[in-house]
Amino acid sequence: MKREKFGEVFKKGLLKESELIFKIIDPPPGAPPLYNIRCEFRNGKWQEPKISKSRHLHLRIEAGCLHYGHEWFEGLAAHATKDGRCLLFRPKENALRAESSSKIICMETVPSSLFQDCVCEAVRQNAAYVPRYGTGGRLYLRPFLIGTNPQLGLGESYEFAFVIFAYPVGNYYPTGLKPMKLYCSPAYDRVAERGTGKAKAGGNYVASYTPKKAAKNKNCGEFLYLDIAQRQYIIETGSSNFVALRADRYYITPDESAVLWSITNDSLAKIAEEIMGFKVQKRRLALSELKVKRGSQRFLETALCGTAARLTPVKAIVYENKFGRNRKEIPFPNVGESAGPWCQELYDHLVAIQHGDEEDRWGWTEEVKL
Ligand code: PLP
Repeated sequence: MKREKFGEVFKKGLLKESELIFKIIDPPPGAPPLYNIRCEFRNGKWQEPKISKSRHLHLRIEAGCLHYGHEWFEGLAAHATKDGRCLLFRPKENALRAESSSKIICMETVPSSLFQDCVCEAVRQNAAYVPRYGTGGRLYLRPFLIGTNPQLGLGESYEFAFVIFAYPVGNYYPTGLKPMKLYCSPAYDRVAERGTGKAKAGGNYVASYTPKKAAKNKNCGEFLYLDIAQRQYIIETGSSNFVALRADRYYITPDESAVLWSITNDSLAKIAEEIMGFKVQKRRLALSELKVKRGSQRFLETALCGTAARLTPVKAIVYENKFGRNRKEIPFPNVGESAGPWCQELYDHLVAIQHGDEEDRWGWTEEVKL
């Protein structure tokens, strides 16, 4: 892919960055295909990666991924810089988390070098689709691993397909940094305490459809899970970590066995600590702590975080009992119709680092040579 092709779909006006949200698109007429990278594990070995423009997989109907959910996925993004470079954000960490997911659910591990090489190739192949600097867009990459060999009974897969596809995206939530409400109740759990919560496995996500629907019915954007033993401690939502910012400048985020380790949360915590002077605590966070109404222990802002949305301020948590009654609302005073000042600052630093505008003091970005 030549350098001049970088962002060409947008330069030529075939797509508009302002119209991007977090959604699958088809290449418009006159645009190049969207390519994906595929690599198979067969006969005990990883095969050579292949570049494909087909958006279909040829699978045995008995493949383990289809029946037993033998699957994990990842999500990361590539960002255009002002001087025309393309930066991936913390791809090594995604490779490490993928390795850990494989171990947790007994799949072949994708070597970190293979993972990262395929990610870079996916960016190069889709360089025409990287949204231009300053538009708020980026190229989202979705690596995934599936068990492909036929099997009828529950058993470990021994053949796998590792695939990475890419899309230009805008904001995950159409409202962008606009705050949302969360719905919380003891009626649903996401994962078991000593279960697979630390893996980014598809099976963990299927459990979150019904609670998310329940949240929508209560006019809330997401469902906030509690620990399954006592139903007192915050876990996370179906697709993001939860962060709470206390008046005495504490950044507190739940550290439970069922929480997925978030690269965004880890990055925001570093920014909060080393740039904004917060103290960071990764620990159990009781829902009741968020109810404090005044003083230094009051939580002024809370937010969700993850690669797709980066940061979504939370203006209130709506809490009900397991029968969907006795509604109470916990508001956060510095979050209204727009983000509070701390969330805005965290977000601005993160975006600036990702796009190469602010010093990358922790070596998080990796340039993809186009
Ligand atoms: N928690 C869950 C359940 C997720 O699906 C995600 C998204 O990937 C996250 C947290 C955030 O992780 P990251 O910041 O690495 O995208």
